[in-house]
Amino acid sequence: MGGRAAGRQGGTVDTATLLRDAGMVRENGMLAMAGVPLDRIADEIGTPVFVYNAEVIRARYAALTGALDGLPHRLHYAVKANSNLAVLHLLRTLGAGADIVSAGEMRRAMAAGFDPGDIVFSGVGKSRDELEQAVATGVGQINVESLEELQLLDAIARKAGRRVPVGIRVNPDVTAETHPYISTGKSGIKFGVPSDQVAAAAALIRRSEGLDLVCLAMHLGSQLHSPEPYARGIERLVGMLEEVRVGGITTVRRLDIGGGLGIRYAGEDEMDLAAFARAVTPPLQRTGLTVSLEPGRFLVGSAGILLGTVLYRKHSGGKEFVIGDAAMNDLLRPSLYRAHHEVVALASHAEAPSIRDLVGPICETGDFLALERPLPALERGERFAVLGAGAYGFVMSSNYNTRPRAAEVLVDRGRHAVIRPREPVERLWAGEVVSPFD
Ligand SMILES: *Cc1c(COP(=O)(O)O)cnc(C)c1O
Repeated sequence: MGGRAAGRQGGTVDTATLLRDAGMVRENGMLAMAGVPLDRIADEIGTPVFVYNAEVIRARYAALTGALDGLPHRLHYAVKANSNLAVLHLLRTLGAGADIVSAGEMRRAMAAGFDPGDIVFSGVGKSRDELEQAVATGVGQINVESLEELQLLDAIARKAGRRVPVGIRVNPDVTAETHPYISTGKSGIKFGVPSDQVAAAAALIRRSEGLDLVCLAMHLGSQLHSPEPYARGIERLVGMLEEVRVGGITTVRRLDIGGGLGIRYAGEDEMDLAAFARAVTPPLQRTGLTVSLEPGRFLVGSAGILLGTVLYRKHSGGKEFVIGDAAMNDLLRPSLYRAHHEVVALASHAEAPSIRDLVGPICETGDFLALERPLPALERGERFAVLGAGAYGFVMSSNYNTRPRAAEVLVDRGRHAVIRPREPVERLWAGEVVSPFD
């Protein structure tokens, strides 16, 4: 999922702050992350390569959970933001549960060591097979999004002879200022049970033999910068909680307020955690329930970068192009959402930046990482870093143009390790059949 459309990111870009968010510093003229010079990683592993800073992930987890320390709560990391096993394992060791949106993510989370009981299964279109797997595995909570899904899940639970803890993901009909593709909490979009159907869903669960209603959940969208929509959503959620209790349900133990906390990609402010805590803590505290959050981007987005190398430069139609080896198949967000990702050179540049496009090798005009942006005078062979690539980066990458997906590296306290090698190119056609009818 994405970010704000270009031109809506507010104030001017403050590169120094963005570098600090990523835990990057310049040492002897060269950018380093967690004490590891980034050109060393590029030399050793090649580019394009994603680099994630474990120190930043730890600090952001601590900041968020610390801001909410007045509230009994649990962070369920949204696996889809960055699902590398090393990242998942790091978050698990910090105490996170996992929020998943597919059976594949369930298997991944378990491969990283998550206990099934610590997994929340979200998603608007879980298949029968996925629900069966989740029930058989004993996933801690399944958040349902429609009455039909509820009926199917009940049938699956009864057949398996289990009682399944469910949450109702409600659509609180709250508008949040973000890119339309990643706004999810408004009525008239596909997500959540509409508020006027929540009572019916709760009644269905109460009558069912297979399901227990343990949670009411919402997720308003992604890359939100103000706590205000959360406050309004929580008000609706609490209203529904009362409705459900009046309907005779006494099993609700948790409220899940979703993810969506925004980060800084350009000049915008990230979610102010103190203000967020002030807005959400009192109304949640009054319920006496445990609170779940499902942050993805906030924990990992700023912690990651994409390193690339300049292949060529050219002037065309009065424009300056820098052609790099990283492309839309590696980082889709600029092409998909017109998202802004700041680009910096690894080596320091004396001359002032000038307006250029940074594009990739893919045969699409829509293949760009930065359009008409002040960029340093990057030379052939020079390394650059695309910031804010820790969330919805590698996970959205593809093999378009038969490009192997980039390598992934984790840095931590002066060390670095490959956590996923670059894909061998032969794997890209493994399983394909050359001549099926001969
Ligand atoms: C994507 C998603 C999240 C995480 O969103 P972020 O903006 O990355 O925090 C949380 N919950 C659900 C249900 C999601 O679909």
